[in-house]
Amino acid sequence: MKIGVLSLQGGVIEHIDHLKHLDTDAVEVKTLNDMKDIDGIILPGGESSTMGKLLRISGLLEPLKNKIIKGLPVWGTCAGMILLAKNIENDPVTHLAVMDITVRRNAFGSQLDSFKTDKFIKDVSGEPVPLVFIRAPFITSADREVKILCSIDDQIVAVRKGSMLATAFHPELTDNLAFHKYFVSICKQYRKREL
Ligand code: GLN
Repeated sequence: MKIGVLSLQGGVIEHIDHLKHLDTDAVEVKTLNDMKDIDGIILPGGESSTMGKLLRISGLLEPLKNKIIKGLPVWGTCAGMILLAKNIENDPVTHLAVMDITVRRNAFGSQLDSFKTDKFIKDVSGEPVPLVFIRAPFITSADREVKILCSIDDQIVAVRKGSMLATAFHPELTDNLAFHKYFVSICKQYRKREL
């Protein structure tokens, strides 16, 4: 199982470390060639506008978008979730725009700029999972076919649609592997379909 982490900007290494704990072949994706035989890709946290620009400059935007539309499993964390959204409330520029969600950047406001909480997320783990938010977006609306995995105070912070997963928080910044396991299981399902 080979899983890529988009490595143009942002928190790449922490995702790679978590994936390595799960016996997967974790690779940094910087070029088209790096994307060739991956079974899934993680879009890390960072700055969505910068990552979007780098996706365009590197020529990765369209090929990656096409692969995701064809079913390549993808997981966007924080800025990565913003890259996936079809609508961004407070930014006129969208990026991959493959997921039927509307997000609001930096949505928790300055008082809750960064925070940590624990949450029980049925689909992901039998135990509460620690969630770390850093200048995080949340989802203000989601299409009916998008499954809501987790909300905090009525704000949607984790969703899934088929092989697309998006979280407003950063499981890679905790030592909990539950979300990475969940994503690897989505990649395995996809690979089975391909055979
Ligand atoms: N605030 C960033 C953005 O809007 C996201 C922050 C993060 O990824 N931790 O792109």
